[in-house]
Amino acid sequence: MQATRAIIHLDNLRRNIQGARRKIGEHPKICMPVKADAYGHGAVPVARCALEAGVDYLAVALTSEGRELRAAGITSPILLLAQAMPDELPEIVSLGLIPHIGDSEFLDEAAGAAEKAGKKLTIHLKVDTGMGRLGCRPEEAAALAKKIASSKSLSLGGIVTHLAVSDSIDPDEVAFTKTQLGRLKEAAASIEKAGIDPGIVHAANSGALVFHEDSYFDMIRPGIFLYGYSPADWLVQTGQAKSMDNYLSAEPLMELRSAVVSVKKMKKGETVSYGRLWTAPEDTYVGIVPAGYADGFRRSLSNDHSMLIDGKTYPLAGRICMDQCMVNLGPNPVVKRWDEAVVFGPGFITAADIAVKAKTIPYEITCGIGKRVPREYI
Ligand SMILES: *Cc1c(COP(=O)(O)O)cnc(C)c1O
Repeated sequence: MQATRAIIHLDNLRRNIQGARRKIGEHPKICMPVKADAYGHGAVPVARCALEAGVDYLAVALTSEGRELRAAGITSPILLLAQAMPDELPEIVSLGLIPHIGDSEFLDEAAGAAEKAGKKLTIHLKVDTGMGRLGCRPEEAAALAKKIASSKSLSLGGIVTHLAVSDSIDPDEVAFTKTQLGRLKEAAASIEKAGIDPGIVHAANSGALVFHEDSYFDMIRPGIFLYGYSPADWLVQTGQAKSMDNYLSAEPLMELRSAVVSVKKMKKGETVSYGRLWTAPEDTYVGIVPAGYADGFRRSLSNDHSMLIDGKTYPLAGRICMDQCMVNLGPNPVVKRWDEAVVFGPGFITAADIAVKAKTIPYEITCGIGKRVPREYI
């Protein structure tokens, strides 16, 4: 068995889903984004567990990601969040994905593809309320909804927007989120006024779940929260807040586990790894752990991280290489060859802690765990 694996703690996923459900009450549906291979956790096992735990919808960015879920026998509604190319539409129709569309041209393309297949395609109308990415302007929503309603092959399943700063507690940014939510509400009202049911109204990503109780509408779409990194915890981790005790917390799913595959004796003054950044301060033992930056263990954490081995932490010794890194086990090591070593994980240094040091966000850490690292589900 390969030493380096990502252990995915599905019990924590269930707990995070329950936490979100308690927070939002009974009415709103929960959509779990499983794009980018479920943020690096493995799309199919995560999706199956989430659906069993009461999630109603899944969301992907790409048609190929929807194909993978359908091929695994998943029949739940699947939102397609990103803009597809026109030639993907026949497959989107046959897989029954729910594309988010915010322009007239692509509505025509989608209607044509659905008609050709003899099927009705459910779409959600995407409104840009301030993200500046995909979607129509709020004042265009009613006209597009009318176009959808008058099409024989399209059906309006919902109206959706994406929030730009919902994870911030800065008063200006909080106000901006309120403005975005207000624009979505107005767009939905304008559609209703035209005599059309807007369907499921949804906006809330993880930041909105945690900080904006008025954002839940008919469905929430929290990603990073369900993977175990609450935007409230993040504020504390990044020093933007002292404590966030009254906000929703989450438990990380991902643990990167490896092993000490070799132990070597080093003399005082000898150096370890590329660049010779680490010098043995005394006669000591160094353990070699086969986890490197190709596995997603960021090179910028060289000399600046500790691993958990047999319940104790041991500091890295020198640069993280592509496939390996080294830890200082001390002059009288209790660690033995083949012992397990936790690089990061729940209850220890988490992917969010790593992200702080690597000057990025937890999303990029979990998405960046290498393809060659097998995911194991417990
Ligand atoms: C990725 C994504 C989400 C989830 O965002 P988180 O910050 O992980 O909660 C929600 N909606 C859309 C449109 C997305 O692209």
